[in-house]
Amino acid sequence: MIRINDLRKVYRTEEVETIALDNMSLHVKEHEFVAIMGPSGCGKSTLLNILGLLDDPDSGSYLFNGVEVTGLSEDKRCDLRRENIGFVFQNFNLIEELTVFENIELPLENCGMKASLRKMKVEKALKSVLLNHRRNYFPSQLSGGQQQRIAIARAIVNEPKVLLLDEPLGALDLKLRQEMQYELIRLKNELGITFLYVTHDQEEALTMSDKVVVMNRGYIQQMGTPEEIYNEPENAFVADFIGDSNI
Ligand code: ADP
Repeated sequence: MIRINDLRKVYRTEEVETIALDNMSLHVKEHEFVAIMGPSGCGKSTLLNILGLLDDPDSGSYLFNGVEVTGLSEDKRCDLRRENIGFVFQNFNLIEELTVFENIELPLENCGMKASLRKMKVEKALKSVLLNHRRNYFPSQLSGGQQQRIAIARAIVNEPKVLLLDEPLGALDLKLRQEMQYELIRLKNELGITFLYVTHDQEEALTMSDKVVVMNRGYIQQMGTPEEIYNEPENAFVADFIGDSNI
C-alpha cells in the first residue's frame, strides 16, 4: 500500500536548516496497523504529512498503491488524498455550528457527491462508530470520546484505503483512551483499512500495532513487531524509549 524509499525533508528558515527526515524507508502492507513513535521533534508529523500527501519530500520516492506520488501537481495530490486517505487528529477539529451528521457529511459535500449517496455513507459511518442516536447533536453536547468518534466517522466516511492518526487519543483521559483503543482495533478489523498511528504512548503502540517504527531526529532507529522492539531493542535509544524495565 505504501512504499517510501530514502525520503529526505529539510526545513529552511533564514537562520537554521532542520533535517526533519533523512534516509527514511518504510513499507506498509494493506490492512497493516503501523505505530510511529519517537520524542517530540523527531519528525513524526512531517512523515505523516508526506504520507498523507499534504507535503512533498525534498528527495526520495513514495509509491502509494503502486503510483509514484512525489512531484505530482497539487490538484492530482488533492484528488488522490480525497479518494484514499483519512485523517484523525488529537484535537477533533469538528465544526461547532454543524450537527454530528453535517460534520461527517462535510467531506462528501466538498467533493460534490449526490445527497442520497451522502446520506447512505454518513449513516454507515455513524453506525460504525456506534453514534447513530447522536446524529442531531452539536459537538459541544458530546463528551470528548464521542467527539473523537465523530472525527473518526468523518475520516472513514469516504471509505479511504489508509487512515492516518496523529495522537488520536492524546486528549482523552486514561479510561476513555483504553476504551477507544478497543474501538479503533474493532473498526480497523471491520473496515479493513490500513492504519498509520502516531503516538507517544509506548503501551498503546506495543499493544495495538502489527509493526512499530521508533524514530529519533529524523531517522528510523528500529522497525519491527512489538515483540522484536520490546525484546530485542537494537540500540540504547530504543531500549530507553520503550521503557525502564527494558534497561
Ligand atoms: P514531531 O511530530 O515528531 O514532533 P515534526 O515533524 O513536527 O516532529 O518536526 C520535526 C523537526 O522539523 C522539528 O525540529 C521541527 O522544529 C522542524 N519543523 C517542523 N515543521 C517545520 C516548519 N514548517 N518550518 C521549520 N521547521 C519545522
